[in-house]
Amino acid sequence: MLEAEIIWQQCTVLLKEQFGEQDFNTWFKQLNVEFKDNKLQIYANNRLVQDFIKNKYWSKVNQILEELTGGISVELLVRQKVKSEISEIVNPVVKVATNEEVNKKDSAARVKNKTSKELAESLHQATKLNPDYNFDTLVKGNSNQLAYAIGLHVTQKPGQKNHNPLFIYGGVGLGKTHLMQAIGNERHKINANTKIRYLHANDYIQDVVKASMRQGFDELKKYYNGLDLLLMDDIQFIAGDKTKTQEEFFYTFNTLLDKDKQVIMTCDTFPKNINNLNERLISRFASGLTVEIQPPELEMRVAILKRKAEQSEIVLDDDVAFFIAQNIKSNVRELEGALNKVIYHAHFSEKGITIAIAKEALMDIFALDSRAVSIDDIQKTICAFYKLKISELLSSKRTQKIVRPRQIAMALAKELTQLSLPAIGNAFGGRDHTTVIHAQKTVMALRQEDDKLDKEYKILIQMLNN
Ligand code: ADP
Ligand code: MG
Repeated sequence: MLEAEIIWQQCTVLLKEQFGEQDFNTWFKQLNVEFKDNKLQIYANNRLVQDFIKNKYWSKVNQILEELTGGISVELLVRQKVKSEISEIVNPVVKVATNEEVNKKDSAARVKNKTSKELAESLHQATKLNPDYNFDTLVKGNSNQLAYAIGLHVTQKPGQKNHNPLFIYGGVGLGKTHLMQAIGNERHKINANTKIRYLHANDYIQDVVKASMRQGFDELKKYYNGLDLLLMDDIQFIAGDKTKTQEEFFYTFNTLLDKDKQVIMTCDTFPKNINNLNERLISRFASGLTVEIQPPELEMRVAILKRKAEQSEIVLDDDVAFFIAQNIKSNVRELEGALNKVIYHAHFSEKGITIAIAKEALMDIFALDSRAVSIDDIQKTICAFYKLKISELLSSKRTQKIVRPRQIAMALAKELTQLSLPAIGNAFGGRDHTTVIHAQKTVMALRQEDDKLDKEYKILIQMLNN
């Protein structure tokens, strides 16, 4: 979507809230927008519509746009007709309300009746935050305790140098998006006027691409630079993208940081480990606070299941919760999926949710899980392949004969398991996570140059996946 359209779309959500569906459809639905000469130009199809909006709604439109963008020049114009549109003049698409209709629905009166709470609600929609992702629904446990506490702290003091930017990283389905949005929702609760925007890095890339097609970079900058709290999800996606996106982001990022506006990012790995990312960005990303979310341990998985069951008003006995949690270890998203499956199966049984039902419901997942690769499998396979002893692999010996297979094993562990870098380092004789990153990078580079090693790596993956 083009930048002008994004702003306009957000504006229309609020207009609809303010004036009701019918008036909105009558007056606003048919308008078109574009950026021209540094102005947001809004086009009505005819003068009547233009006059009516000018008289009745214009100050509100301006106010909303001001709130959304921090001040933007706006013009309301009548679209010049081109030939193909002449039929519209004869047969206007815009339905013009009769005086009677207008009187009946005196929207000005309704605007007055809008409480500030309702206005706050509509402003919330512009943040694109999902209200269900909040701190109340986020279960706290060892694996996310620190991230949870930091997140909550940031809502109290957004923009403070020691946690700006806040960089949250961890594997898939561990609650990064949930936590990030919880921070946004909490901040909105504390101060409904905070200009918050949540978006996925892919949406940002789209914005940049569109801006470059339209030469609309000024508008793009204006919008993003006007935010108080930017929540950018899955930032690793901008790494693979053209430098233009990274450049734009670098600019916005710096502007916001300079103004002490809070930036929060999530990522599947930590800054230094993002491939294809501009060095300047890497060091900026790491310049605030970096926090990891790890896979939940058994106790927390049980707590999450119980909470989800409670939310769905389902009775879930401890033994069944334990049974599911013991078997689904990878991430919270899968845990949720598993619980839903069990609940669904239980619908068709008279006994409610029992272990037997859970077993039946999750049979296919268990079958898949039994094929999941463990670190133990990887170490055994590597040792068999390179004719080493496990003790050698895990030792501190640094002979070439051992170092390379050890690095390959770590790279495989990163690729094939859900374990975090520190957990992998630990499983390899208590090594540091930086050793794992180094191993991963070395193996990746070697595979580019050394065909033999690349082939071995692929064979190992095949062996492990069978
Ligand atoms: P990520 O962004 O890390 O891939 P998400 O935030 O999308 O993960 O989380 C996946 C699902 O798991 C979401 O439905 C989320 O609400 C849920 N979830 C993750 N962590 C927790 C938690 N600690 N407590 C409750 N629900 C969680
Ligand atoms: Mg996510």
